[in-house]
Amino acid sequence: MKEKKNLINRRNLLKSFGIAGLGSVIARAEDIAPKIKEQEKDKKSKNPQVPRRVLGKTGVSVSTLALGTLFNVIENQIMLRKALQWGVNYWDTAYGYTGGNSELGIGKFFKKNPEKRKEVFLVSKASGAKNAEDAESRLQESLKRLNTDYIDLYYGVHVLNDISQMSDELIKWGESAKKRKLIKHFGFSTHKNMADNLMAASKMKGIDAILSTYNFRLTKDQKMQDAIQACHEAGIGLTAMKTQGVKIETSEDKELTEHFLSRGFTEGQAKIKMVLEDKRIASACVGRGNLSHLIQNIAAVLDKTKLAKEDFDFFEQYAQKTCDGYCTACGHICDSVLTDSPYTSEILRYMMYYNSYGEPDYARELFAKIPADVRNNLLNIDYNQAEKRCPQNLPIAKIIAEAVEKLA
Ligand code: SF4
Repeated sequence: MKEKKNLINRRNLLKSFGIAGLGSVIARAEDIAPKIKEQEKDKKSKNPQVPRRVLGKTGVSVSTLALGTLFNVIENQIMLRKALQWGVNYWDTAYGYTGGNSELGIGKFFKKNPEKRKEVFLVSKASGAKNAEDAESRLQESLKRLNTDYIDLYYGVHVLNDISQMSDELIKWGESAKKRKLIKHFGFSTHKNMADNLMAASKMKGIDAILSTYNFRLTKDQKMQDAIQACHEAGIGLTAMKTQGVKIETSEDKELTEHFLSRGFTEGQAKIKMVLEDKRIASACVGRGNLSHLIQNIAAVLDKTKLAKEDFDFFEQYAQKTCDGYCTACGHICDSVLTDSPYTSEILRYMMYYNSYGEPDYARELFAKIPADVRNNLLNIDYNQAEKRCPQNLPIAKIIAEAVEKLA
């Protein structure tokens, strides 16, 4: 009887995705599907639904997997359809994603399926906004692009490097946008100096939720842990992004992959599970316009297997052995001695998109926004002092040279 149920679950998973020839990806989903319990099925859907958690003081129950939409959604509507079929109701976009094609694609979906709007917890961000006026104009345009009259959660600062960017003026503007019912909740996203930013936000009024870089490399960082706890106690909803860390091609990397395959997961699935083991994190935002990755990610959160102590140990050892190759986004350290190039830590992030997240176009798009005089001077700068201060001993000059070669 149990075998029969497992077979049905495997069939449902494959049938629902409706694609053949995914080879190893399907094999992983097949491994995981048997563990899905019948009671997880939504009454209205034949598919199991990914679990949900409450996103802090927003009080909204969101899917533990958020669909990141840093891709051309206009041409990839299937990602939205499949996400909803499996209960991935948390969609994350931004004004600046793919030149507007991410928001426009979601708008196209809502135009065709207006009844789906209320099912989705929709997030967007005021990319590039420096003040309330910028945020207002971006929000107005995003609402039009998205074919909706409200956004569930709006990040008034997209890529907050320092908490001073979240000015009183912006907080007041967020309150006003809520009163006008254009947004329901307000916050920011942060990729750099995350621990400082989260800790500061926990003491501020007006921040409902934060999207922050958080992955297995940061789970042992006490400063980050304290900041997460402070936000949690303040009721600020937390979503993790960049859950995959940076892929570093070493023998340790191969060992990590083999270890988790022997446990029945891909390395990427294990990294998502690792982040979600922390119940203070409501959701993991993962996303590229790739259906096979979406399948793997859904399978990871549907699977109930808990990571064992040996898995946590394996991650810790791997993080320690490979920490020299990872930029921990502590930009205040290197940027402070590189006054001619205030974009150094940003460029390292762009190279992470290029090398580890399969997002070369986005990396080039961001690089192109650096003022031309700064870009043209990047190879003339002495990075010695920054390399000496870098706690990760990164070869900053070499990475910048690689960025100039690949992103220019
Ligand atoms: S390059 Fe080094 S100092 Fe700069 S943000 Fe990365 S880890 Fe920190």
